[in-house]
Amino acid sequence: MTTPQASEARPSRPAPPRYPSDMPVLTFDPRGIYCEAGDFFIDPWRPVPRALITHGHSDHARSGMGAYLSTDIAAPVMRHRLGDISLDTIRYGEVRQIGGAKVSFPPAGHVPGSAQIRIEVGGEVWVVSGDYKTTPDGLSTPWEPVRCHAFISECTFGLPVFRWQPQEEIAQDLNAWWARNAADGRFSLLGAYSLGKAQRLLHMLDPSIAPILTHGAVEATNEVLRDQGLPLPPTTRVAAGLDLKAHAGALVVAPPSALHSAWARKFGPASTAVASGWMALRGIRRRRGTDRGFVVSDHADWPGLNDAIRATGAHKVFVTHGYTAAFRRWLEDQGYDAGIVATDYAGEEVFAEGDAPTDIIDEDAPESTAQGDAA
Ligand SMILES: [Zn+2]
Ligand SMILES: [Zn+2]
Repeated sequence: MTTPQASEARPSRPAPPRYPSDMPVLTFDPRGIYCEAGDFFIDPWRPVPRALITHGHSDHARSGMGAYLSTDIAAPVMRHRLGDISLDTIRYGEVRQIGGAKVSFPPAGHVPGSAQIRIEVGGEVWVVSGDYKTTPDGLSTPWEPVRCHAFISECTFGLPVFRWQPQEEIAQDLNAWWARNAADGRFSLLGAYSLGKAQRLLHMLDPSIAPILTHGAVEATNEVLRDQGLPLPPTTRVAAGLDLKAHAGALVVAPPSALHSAWARKFGPASTAVASGWMALRGIRRRRGTDRGFVVSDHADWPGLNDAIRATGAHKVFVTHGYTAAFRRWLEDQGYDAGIVATDYAGEEVFAEGDAPTDIIDEDAPESTAQGDAA
């Protein structure tokens, strides 16, 4: 007589793995973070059949995947950057069954459309943070804490030296700098990466001071985000033939790499600034060769990372993307079961090659510093 118990006991048909004890919900594959129960990868850095994407930055959303899944808000930028891809979308709060995994995309507050990815298999919940920040920026859907058993967290700015000012204070400093330059008849050149940071700064600017101009790379992203309804102030692309005299005192938003290029020379002697979390490090600020450094980041700062990790209730925490060794040690001291995931995420808080903070805080520098979202 065949009972269910008897058939399960047959060695030729092993019982499916039982969570939480039998196998991890996610494993770390050379191609990316992998979920066996759902047979998909999260932000893979090599081509795979099925990729779940946290957000559109180039180190997370790469070309060559068979099929993509992202939030509906991230989708236009994904298409803009990756072209004609097979892309399915999911809304914040929606739950999708993929094979044996229940998947959802809670907001990450990093850039518009950015998400964490929550994966539940047999009652065990793992969350991949993607890039995130815990304070609202006025444009991105604010970060939400998600309870989980295991949390894979970025820690780009995982050192106590990184503490961000409130956004209103940064906005005041930024507008005061611009107003002073405009009063002196100078242009203000502001370096910021083109997806997220540029729009966040635009949102903080006071358009009554003077006109706002943009580099083509920034304006291309502005157009995509404006089309989907994001509230951005009016901006003018710096194109050939633009009458710069008619835009005296303008603030110009450009990728950081453009600030010292031939492109920037047309603005004559201008005041230059870069907006990045790395501006918190004096050595980098000095070597950027800009007049000002505004400490503005779309990643969590030290208190933000610690608050976020605590809020998940997770005991197991994997860190990636930043000062991983130091941050892992810190978490272990706090009683967490902590590990490091080696990834290929470069970080879009770009600074020029040679500016890496390795000589400032040597042992735990970011894995990579020269790539990312310079486009
Ligand atoms: Zn990012
Ligand atoms: Zn990243």
